Amino acid sequence: MIRRVHSKEVRAAARRKLQERGVSVKDIAEIVYEMQSPYNENLTMDQCIESVEAVLEKREVQHAVLVGIELDVLAEQQKLSEPLQSIVESDEGLFGCDETLALGSVFGYGSIAVTTFGHLDKNKNGIIKKLDTKNGSGVHTFLDDLVASIAASASSRIAHRQRDEEERLEEQRILQLNEQKEQDAV
Ligand code: MG
Repeated sequence: MIRRVHSKEVRAAARRKLQERGVSVKDIAEIVYEMQSPYNENLTMDQCIESVEAVLEKREVQHAVLVGIELDVLAEQQKLSEPLQSIVESDEGLFGCDETLALGSVFGYGSIAVTTFGHLDKNKNGIIKKLDTKNGSGVHTFLDDLVASIAASASSRIAHRQRDEEERLEEQRILQLNEQKEQDAV
């Protein structure tokens, strides 16, 4: 019988794989902080960590992480068939499936996530730079894009929440002003 995998198992596996490949939640949160702190002076690292944790709860993110890391690891072990082995191992610039896989999981977080992903893909902030297969050891052809996508989604989530909070405070302020006017009128 085909086994039906429980979501807890998928969640744990995705987190374990990231850790095994040298990427911590804090590493991703640092990129989120770098992306969002110019727009939010009260932003804390704890908020960034919380946002990364929330993105990692998404099943489609977990699936992308599992697929991408598996291919990186198989390429490191020379276990892919040719020509895919050489393409993944050399992080061939025109390959594009690494970006496509990672990009697929940012759409749920709106256009800010998509544009932030594009920025990170180009500028390679924080740990993304260290993961660049062309610079370091090991194959991280998929992992660098996955990290960029998680950071982009977590950044967008913070941007939207900040706007929600600003609007809530603004509504509260108007309400208080109106109450004050009513009191003054009595
Ligand atoms: Mg890549």
